[in-house]
Amino acid sequence: MRPTGKLHLGHVVGALKNWVELQERYRSFHFIADWHALTSDFADTSEIDQFRTEMMIDWLAAGLDPQKSVLFVQSAVPEHAELHLLFSMITPLGWLERVPTYKEQRDNVIDKDLGNYGFLGYPVLQAADILMYRADAVPVGEDQVPHVELTREIGRRFNSLYGQVFPEPQALLTPVPRLPGLDGRKMSKSYGNDISLSDSPETIHAKVRTMMTDPARKRRHDPGNPELCPVFSYHKIYSSRETQATVDRECRTAGIGCVECKKWMSDGLVRELSPLLERRRDYAGRRQEIGEIIEDGNRRAAQEAGETMQAVRQAMKMT
Ligand code: AMP
Repeated sequence: MRPTGKLHLGHVVGALKNWVELQERYRSFHFIADWHALTSDFADTSEIDQFRTEMMIDWLAAGLDPQKSVLFVQSAVPEHAELHLLFSMITPLGWLERVPTYKEQRDNVIDKDLGNYGFLGYPVLQAADILMYRADAVPVGEDQVPHVELTREIGRRFNSLYGQVFPEPQALLTPVPRLPGLDGRKMSKSYGNDISLSDSPETIHAKVRTMMTDPARKRRHDPGNPELCPVFSYHKIYSSRETQATVDRECRTAGIGCVECKKWMSDGLVRELSPLLERRRDYAGRRQEIGEIIEDGNRRAAQEAGETMQAVRQAMKMT
C-alpha cells in the first residue's frame, strides 16, 4: 500500500481484511510502498513520514499481527531498487504502455504530473517487490490484477534468460475486489470519491447521502435495480442479511426511497468501523512500539531480500 494519505474503505475491504485472514494460513510479507508513493507524489514529500506511521497504525488496528506477518517499509530494503533496475533492462516498453492502470490514471488524474519515467515503471518496481519474496500469491484489489500478470511475465522472461529463480505468483482477490466510491467509479483518494478511516460518523453519514444511486431512480416513486446501485454493494458488506433482503425488495418496488436506504447503510458502516477506530486510537498513543515493529519487520524483510538477490546475481553472473 502506498502511503499517500489516510486509508479509505477500498483499502480495507479490497486488501486489508484479506491480509488479516491470510496471515493465519500463509507466511506473509506486507510493506508500505513509499517509493511507489513518489511515482505520483514526488513534488511534496513532507508528509510521507507521517503517512508511513499512520499506515502501520491502521494495519495493526485492522488486525495484522507482526508476530505472524512481516510488516516493513519498502525504502528500508534497498534490494527492491536493485531488482527493479535489473528487471527494467528486460522489460519491453510495450508491455508497460499496455498496462490498463497506466492509461486509466493518465486519463483520470488531472492534478498530478504523471509524465515521469517512474510512473510508467511503477509495475516493474512492483514486480521486484513481489518476486523479491518469491511469492506464490499476492492479495490485492481488482485494479492490481494486470500488475500481477505483468509480474509473471517479467519473472518468466528472467527465468528463460538466466535460469529458474522466480515462481509464478497469482492474485488473491477478496469478495469485494473493487469497492465503488461516492461517484460510482473505483474508490480512490485521487478521484476525491473516498470515505476515509479518519472521517467522523457525521462526515460518513453526510458523504453517504451524496452517493450516486441507480440512475433509473430519478424520483421517489421510480423503481430501481439494486445490482446497478453502488449503495447496495455497501449493504452487502455492512448490513445484515435481513436489511439486504428488505432493501433488495423495496428498491425494486420503490417501497423505500434512496435517502432511507442510505441511512440504513451508513448506520451499519459506522457501527462496523467503530471497533477498528477505537483500536486505532489506542495504537496512536504507542509510537515507540510502532517504530520497533517497523524496525523488526525491515530486518526480517532484508534477510529474505538478501537471499533472493544472491540468487539473482548468481543467475545473471553479476556476483
Ligand atoms: P494503493 O493505495 O493503490 O497502493 O492500493 C493498496 C491496495 O488496496 C491494492 O491492493 C488495491 O488493489 C486495494 N484497493 C485500493 N482501492 C480499492 C478499491 N476501491 N476497491 C478494492 N480494492 C482497492
